[in-house]
Amino acid sequence: MKLTIGHLYPDLLNLYGDRGNIQCLMKRCQWRGIEAETIAYEMDDKIDFSRLDIVLLGGGSDREQMLVCEKLKEIQKDFKEYVENNGVVIAICGGYQLLGNYYKTDQGMIKGLELVDMYTEQGEGRLISNIILQSELFDMPVVGFENHGGRTCINNNKPLGKVLHGSGNDGKSGYEGVVYKNVIGTYLHGPLLPKNPQLADWLILHALQKKYGEQTELTPLDDSQEKEANDYICHRFLK
Ligand code: GLN
Repeated sequence: MKLTIGHLYPDLLNLYGDRGNIQCLMKRCQWRGIEAETIAYEMDDKIDFSRLDIVLLGGGSDREQMLVCEKLKEIQKDFKEYVENNGVVIAICGGYQLLGNYYKTDQGMIKGLELVDMYTEQGEGRLISNIILQSELFDMPVVGFENHGGRTCINNNKPLGKVLHGSGNDGKSGYEGVVYKNVIGTYLHGPLLPKNPQLADWLILHALQKKYGEQTELTPLDDSQEKEANDYICHRFLK
């Protein structure tokens, strides 16, 4: 079995080292004997979505998002087809905002990919915090760090999880992220996947099942250290 991961525009969308998430996906495949390769796309590259099994769209500053948004118009149709065809996507922070219809900032309007019916508007102040969610998709709480000026409204879509600590999508709905088909969008930055192996495995499993059939299963890995770290964070922030 083999998975190909597409990393979109890492030169611009790689805030807080979102690239580390790719390494985590690759390693968790390789540890199970699943071949894995990553293709990093720069702005001038042509993307053939039919080659990809997982797409990662990382975080970026408003300025970088504005630059990328021009490019996204060109790939919108193919990307949409990939998503509607159950392609797996993990989109983080700036990348998460770009999944939606638009991101409105004081500097102007950034047009989104319109892959998920949601939108983002800049609010007063930034939402910066450690964050913990409980997601219906996993037993273990999802832990991470958020830092965003945008407030995201996911309309009638399903959130990734309920906020147990932190701000989440807009600081008031009590929810964080979005799940649409095989797409996960989230504000959780940096080492999202190393910290949350269940989320990494969700992406790998859905990509494998799409490619090799629903019966495909994942061999469990020893995640005792990740579980210990998760427990520690939960105890630290949830009284
Ligand atoms: N520029 C966006 C915001 O501030 C996203 C930032 C990010 O990716 N951390 O809301």
